[in-house]
Amino acid sequence: MKKIIAFDCDSTLSAIEGVDELARLAGDDIFRQVEDLTTQAMDGSIAIEDVFAKRLDLIQPTREQCALVGQMYLEQIEPTAKETIRTLQEHGWECIIISGGFTPCIEPLAAELGITRIEAVPLHFSENGSFSGFDEDYPTTRNGGKPEIIQQIKAESQPSQLVMIGDGVSDLETQPFVNKFFGYLGYTPRERVKQGANQSIYLLKELLDILTK
Ligand SMILES: [Mg+2]
Repeated sequence: MKKIIAFDCDSTLSAIEGVDELARLAGDDIFRQVEDLTTQAMDGSIAIEDVFAKRLDLIQPTREQCALVGQMYLEQIEPTAKETIRTLQEHGWECIIISGGFTPCIEPLAAELGITRIEAVPLHFSENGSFSGFDEDYPTTRNGGKPEIIQQIKAESQPSQLVMIGDGVSDLETQPFVNKFFGYLGYTPRERVKQGANQSIYLLKELLDILTK
């Protein structure tokens, strides 16, 4: 029987929020507008689906900008992520990423971590690399998207254990559907996540004492 651990990406596997970095590349003005929308979505004060298209419409991320953000994820990787994932894999845990971020930005980090399954939002580019849209039906573009993916995984693989770790309210939404939800408080500690989590940690390697013993 499979054991699966699902990691949030932004502010969990890496210190950055990818969408904010993409916005920064688009200029100060756009950055401020997007940052405000992201903060409200992560705190749960506005619905994710209400901000998702709005942010991408403002940013219009190119393929090249996504590659730059991909490098930032690598440069600011959580300091214990690599050893933690390697050790979890050695102990039979399948490690996956479930993210409301963008697949082309996250791919380099996933490759570095030896993670092959990325559940994140696909972006579309035209031939010259300019932004031409995103997968609007993808579950993590809306509230309840992460639990939807968790349910899919359960139906597909019937894992003996399924755990999730993340820092956001969208991650915490999976808590009723997983065996254990870990709050990751190393970068952006949120009281609501801390209160709702089965357990909270500040470094990913703390998972090893709990999941490999
Ligand atoms: Mg996050």
